[in-house]
Amino acid sequence: MLARRKFLQLGSLGLSAISFSSFKLKPTVRKPIVISTWGEGIAANQAAWNILKSGGRALDAVEQGVMVTEASQNCCVGLGANPDRDGFVTLDACIMDENANIGSVAFLERIKHPISVARKVMEKTPHVMLVGIGAQQFAVSQGFPLEPQKLSEEAQKSYNNWLIKSEYKPVINIESSKNQTAFAPKKLDNGNWNHDTIGMVAMDANGNLSGSCTTSGMGFKMRGRLGDSPIIGAGLFVDNEIGAATATGQGEDVIRICGAHLVVELMRQGLSPENACKKAVERIIKIKGAAAKNIQVGFIAINKQGEYGGYCIQKGFDFAVCYADDKNFMVPGKYII
Ligand code: ASP
Repeated sequence: MLARRKFLQLGSLGLSAISFSSFKLKPTVRKPIVISTWGEGIAANQAAWNILKSGGRALDAVEQGVMVTEASQNCCVGLGANPDRDGFVTLDACIMDENANIGSVAFLERIKHPISVARKVMEKTPHVMLVGIGAQQFAVSQGFPLEPQKLSEEAQKSYNNWLIKSEYKPVINIESSKNQTAFAPKKLDNGNWNHDTIGMVAMDANGNLSGSCTTSGMGFKMRGRLGDSPIIGAGLFVDNEIGAATATGQGEDVIRICGAHLVVELMRQGLSPENACKKAVERIIKIKGAAAKNIQVGFIAINKQGEYGGYCIQKGFDFAVCYADDKNFMVPGKYII
């Protein structure tokens, strides 16, 4: 009412005399919002959304969101996933909150929820990253049960199949969730999943950002191999003044450009989330040259206005976006090659 009266008064003075900026409307901020990589992001977003819509913290949302994917036995993430080339499932995860608190675990075996262990590293230790047996010991000390050392039925089949040639060949993530039933991740003919990661970034009702990233890494990788997903700045980065980004795809090439950090820094320079992701993808393509056609990398990002975007090297990557009870949908990632 007051604003309208003021407007009418000013109107009577003549608009031309008034600086237009006095009337600049504040851009609407879309919040809360959560986005995550690939088709399983729909279920993960839903869990995150349940927290966000009741005023919960983005940090809780991104942890509990990706836990849904980690718990799914028939998936490319978590203990049901494909093993390394020695037949062991090794998991990597990291988490980051609005205060730049970070936690990460890598080369973690026999623990169902690496993302929650990463959060414990963040909250309960003076460190930011624990790996291997040390990470497992810490998890057990925090009450996480040690799961049996056993491949899921699906993973055992894939592994047996893979052993015939024993050839490590990263697969381009070319299957979009559109071609899949109920957004299930897709298994490719050679036994690989079309991807191995879920990355999630969210802004809560208070405008605070957080992110999570969790993976079994590339199927049939060398024992001990880490990708980008547990590396803050590569697989995930959050800056509460600017935005948040996460990555999926060939981790070696995400690390090469400090991918998620780069995306956030590009948003700081004024780029939209989509354009920031695009520039990061272009940088990988420039470095890789002709070899870029053999790899897939996808980035997704949100900014403080609740704008979102994603970009990938080649067709097939998609991501899930949720900002209302009836708005949890897939967006095909734009691509360059
Ligand atoms: N980025 C993961 C890794 O390199 C894999 C993936 O996203 O599919 O371990």
